[in-house]
Amino acid sequence: MIYVDEFRDKEAVRGLARKIVKIADGKRLTFMEVCGTHTMSAARYGIRNILPENVKLLSGPGCPVCVTPNSYLDRAMAISRLHQSIIVTFGDMFRVPGSSSSLAREKSQGGDIRIVYSALDSLSIARENRDRKVVFLGIGFETTAPTVAATILAAQREGLDNFFVLCGHKTIPNAMKMLVDSPELNVSGFICPGHVSAIIGSRSYEPLATEYRVPCVVAGFEPTDILQAIYMLAKQVKEERASVENQYSRVVAEDGNTKAISVMEGVFGTKDAEWRGIGVVSQSGLSIGEKFSAFDAESNIEVEVERTKEFPGCICGQILRGVKTPLQCKLFGKECTPVEPKGACMVSSEGTCAAYYKYPQLP
Ligand code: SF4
Ligand code: SF4
Repeated sequence: MIYVDEFRDKEAVRGLARKIVKIADGKRLTFMEVCGTHTMSAARYGIRNILPENVKLLSGPGCPVCVTPNSYLDRAMAISRLHQSIIVTFGDMFRVPGSSSSLAREKSQGGDIRIVYSALDSLSIARENRDRKVVFLGIGFETTAPTVAATILAAQREGLDNFFVLCGHKTIPNAMKMLVDSPELNVSGFICPGHVSAIIGSRSYEPLATEYRVPCVVAGFEPTDILQAIYMLAKQVKEERASVENQYSRVVAEDGNTKAISVMEGVFGTKDAEWRGIGVVSQSGLSIGEKFSAFDAESNIEVEVERTKEFPGCICGQILRGVKTPLQCKLFGKECTPVEPKGACMVSSEGTCAAYYKYPQLP
């Protein structure tokens, strides 16, 4: 594995760690990553343990499953209780607890809930069940939204009038701006998500650097990628500048994937969206555009949605805002484990609580 090995080389890792110590020069720096794979990768490779004490790495709202609020889940479950409905979802959503149930529990009680690996698979289910409403749970950032948009286009071409999307897609840059505005957080710089940036391009973070004066570095997922990004951020702080730099240029282009962006923009508009633990963030969500409104589950399938409540004691919201770590949750590892999760951050394979549980060496 020549290509991967060079990004995991121990000497290179040690060298970067020494460079970070030097450039940070004892100054207190807090960087945040907003990507589930960065969360897991930093945990797996013990990045936090390599960093000097004055340099902190926080995990932010980077996992699309974790940031999906209970109100969305509760609506999905209410739809699943309609006798003619089929819910189609990616596996990560299956066990996430909503206010009083989960899709897994609904399935055990007779709900028809199916797991797929691609949004397009939901069209075969719709074709085979023309007398039933097939609802795909559209969750994810700019990485998954283009494929869901392409699925809606395919459904329209085929005239599949029993296919719907419950649209919970979110976009990252506005949520990052909201975090910078938050008085409870003092972020010195952002490690920007690799996959999302491959779609939207590194240019999308320019306003964060120019208007908000926050250094941004787009990074890959290997240990040397993350450490190099931290070094680049610390260097920007030291040089008192804020710009967007691209550590992951082997994958991410300045303009991103223009074809995927145009498919996404052709189908979706933008809307204010609710994020778990953060609240409503202006223009941070995608909505199904007017031309495709026949595929919008929310406006076409009427259900009574229960009043939203959070599991008492779960601090997922504060963890997603970067103000607490899972170790500060009283339920962590006791009442709440990956087998018996009480909050989304413990269920998702990219969740911060799941990362802390899997890699107990984390500080
Ligand atoms: S989809 Fe990729 S870029 Fe987005 S949060 Fe997950 S791992 Fe990060
Ligand atoms: S450990 Fe469990 S209960 Fe605590 S914040 Fe994480 S998901 Fe919520």
